[in-house]
Amino acid sequence: MLITKRKNYLTEFSLKQKLVPTILFVLLFLVGLVILLQYELLYIGAYLILWLVSYPVIYAGTCRYCANYGKPCPIILEGGMVHWVFDRVNKPYGMMQLIWASVAYLLRIVVPFIIIIQNQLWTWGILYGATFIGFWFSHLRITGCPNCVNYQCPLNPGTKY
Ligand code: SF4
Repeated sequence: MLITKRKNYLTEFSLKQKLVPTILFVLLFLVGLVILLQYELLYIGAYLILWLVSYPVIYAGTCRYCANYGKPCPIILEGGMVHWVFDRVNKPYGMMQLIWASVAYLLRIVVPFIIIIQNQLWTWGILYGATFIGFWFSHLRITGCPNCVNYQCPLNPGTKY
């Protein structure tokens, strides 16, 4: 059900081609930050540190295995940045890489999520949740996966050359 239909074969993604998920990604970061601004500085510090830590996690666990390694990939600051930090790994890209990507995104959202639940910020929760879902929907169904040439990825559309 997660696997979408093939639209195109893009070896690089311009900012225009990934504009919607990029806006939603930035919005996700900002909404999380605004939620935490109402609380102690400690939460903001933890949020920023975990967001930073998520990059080595996703680079090491996911991006260095990907066909989009070192290229402007469907998500900003990931495939296009990994080669500055880690060498490429010539091993198959599989389920473990999706698990590491999930861990990285969990690190990015865990602090706002806890604050929303603890303080029952339901309106913020809906906004934050909608941004998160919108980001993943646009990436998985519209701009990223339907055009991706990382054929080994379990989420890649079946069509191969
Ligand atoms: S198929 Fe989708 S999830 Fe998999 S590497 Fe490509 S863009 Fe990322």
